[in-house]
Amino acid sequence: MLNKLKRAALGAHTPHDKATAASKPVPMPLPAQVRILMSQHIGAPAKATVKKGDAVCVGTLIGEAGGFVSANIHSSVSGTVKAVEPYRLSNGKLCDSVVIETDGKQTVDPSVQPPVVTDKASFLAAVRASGLVGLGGAGFPTDVKLQPKSPVDTLLINASECEVWLTSDTQEMLTCPDDIVRGIQAVLQYTGIPRCIIGIEKNKPECIDLLCQKTKDIANIDVKPLPSVYGTGAELILIEKCLGREVPHGGLPADAGAIVMNVTSVSMLGKYLATGMPVVERVVTVDGDACAQPQNMIVPVGASYQDIVNAAGLKPDVTLGKVVAGGAMMGPAVEDLSYPTTKTCSGLILLSKAAATPPAAEPCIRCGRCIEYCPMGLAPVEVNGAYAARDVEELGKLHVDYCFNCGSCTFVCPAKRPCTQMMGLAKAYYLDQIKKGGNK
Ligand code: SF4
Ligand code: SF4
Repeated sequence: MLNKLKRAALGAHTPHDKATAASKPVPMPLPAQVRILMSQHIGAPAKATVKKGDAVCVGTLIGEAGGFVSANIHSSVSGTVKAVEPYRLSNGKLCDSVVIETDGKQTVDPSVQPPVVTDKASFLAAVRASGLVGLGGAGFPTDVKLQPKSPVDTLLINASECEVWLTSDTQEMLTCPDDIVRGIQAVLQYTGIPRCIIGIEKNKPECIDLLCQKTKDIANIDVKPLPSVYGTGAELILIEKCLGREVPHGGLPADAGAIVMNVTSVSMLGKYLATGMPVVERVVTVDGDACAQPQNMIVPVGASYQDIVNAAGLKPDVTLGKVVAGGAMMGPAVEDLSYPTTKTCSGLILLSKAAATPPAAEPCIRCGRCIEYCPMGLAPVEVNGAYAARDVEELGKLHVDYCFNCGSCTFVCPAKRPCTQMMGLAKAYYLDQIKKGGNK
């Protein structure tokens, strides 16, 4: 049923608003202090391995993976540990953080050396040591992803970057294509996955051309141009568009024979294998109508959002209304600018008060646009009714758990109804009821 719905779905045509597409990443001014969270990934938090007063360098291990599904954390700066203390995350939970006062020297830790990789075991150990997680936003530890329980025949590289404003992946492709290819080849060689497809939206022709040229003599890597439709970057949709396969309900990409890696993640892997430098910084697209200098900025992990806002500046005649971490369609609003950046932060969108003020919602006119444009083929208007009635069985029939919060339904709704927020509430309610043993 879902497959039929998905094939009928259009996906929203969000504006190709990519003012920073040609902005080569530049380092932000080094902050005086960074706060590095021990939980920047899916899974168990890392355990801090440093204490107050310790000297650290760039690349020093400061947090050890706290379980199988977890990731190492490294210092992004050289300096002195000022505190190891709990910090309240945006979801309300507390997690340890390491606060480091920078010394301005950015001395690299002597342990930062290219890893010795000779076989699958040493490759996976190197990936684990690097602290690499899904940098597209998911934050799933890469070494765990590369050990699937089902047989996999394709490595899919997600280079669609369909989110409005974001161009950090685009710049990664344009400036680091050799790292991307090196990372892909290592994954194929050491995991035994026979082939790779790099999926790139057609609205990035220069990326398609460059990666086609870099892979033209490599038989098992193909570049696949994808339709420029918002939602293409969602894992399930990417798999369907590239392989024509459907991930079973509740399953993982590996259940459809694929592993999906974000293009910046595989590029970071390529860099790590060549240099031994773990994930300590990343490119963040800073844009939005309130931003004075939209740009791609190289940000040390742990710099505060306020540091980034200060570096990019605000337009003098504009009042900052909202800051969104990640893309404008899916990213959460930042409630406190002192919050630190993590490995998974690909963008910071600075919106004026005018742009951030939602229009008043009007009654639903049953036009069906939210259904027509949902990339997952869901029916928000029907879910709304089922959720209002707290009808768990109907919510299950409507596959509410497939919603990935993409924002398309709200974007296309002529009545400006908060469909996405309602879908989030309905999904949370449904999953909670299922957990409690409700009807599915
Ligand atoms: S798009 Fe908006 S107005 Fe149209 S059916 Fe959906 S919720 Fe109703
Ligand atoms: S937020 Fe959910 S329901 Fe709305 S368009 Fe996206 S996937 Fe569909």
